[in-house]
Amino acid sequence: MNHKSLTHQWILKFKPLNLTVDMTAGNGYDTLFLAQHSAQVIAIDIQDTAIENTKKRCQNFKNIEYIISDHKIVDIPKRITGLMYNLGYLPGSDKVITTDGNSTIASLNKLINQTEKFITLACYRKHPGGQEEYLAVKEWVESLSHPYEILEYETDLSPITFLIDLTKKNPLSK
Ligand code: SAM
Repeated sequence: MNHKSLTHQWILKFKPLNLTVDMTAGNGYDTLFLAQHSAQVIAIDIQDTAIENTKKRCQNFKNIEYIISDHKIVDIPKRITGLMYNLGYLPGSDKVITTDGNSTIASLNKLINQTEKFITLACYRKHPGGQEEYLAVKEWVESLSHPYEILEYETDLSPITFLIDLTKKNPLSK
């Protein structure tokens, strides 16, 4: 099973899912998954093309709000069940627009206190800035007092996914 399927399967253990947020909607595969299993979904992407692609893929679902914006400035004045991040560039694009460590960490810091069950972060390391973003995310995840799992392949610079369980605390943390 690939990372995406393993991540989706891991998220299902947190059902019921009330409000979930796809922080990097891209081509809409994760938004579609979330819409199938959540009462409400917010799909965010900085690019119009990505939101259009996501809307097409999810056209049969009425429980999705779409936001074109940098995720680090989006306010969500509600409790959130879980956040999904699939970092990097839009597959099939010219790779000019990619996520970057600073805005990814800023958005995580903005939303973590209102997020109740999970955060998933898939990091890609082969494109320029990808390895730096992965290291920033790793440091942020390690600073939390919540347990997390790591999905990784055994090849150099392959994607690494962090699965953070916010419903539990590490035994030694305050
Ligand atoms: N999860 C998607 C899917 O299932 O198809 C793939 C996401 S793709 C790897 C990464 C996406 O992040 C791109 O569509 C890109 O436009 C978006 N992105 C880059 N920087 C962003 C930012 N600061 N805020 C929101 N989205 C951003």
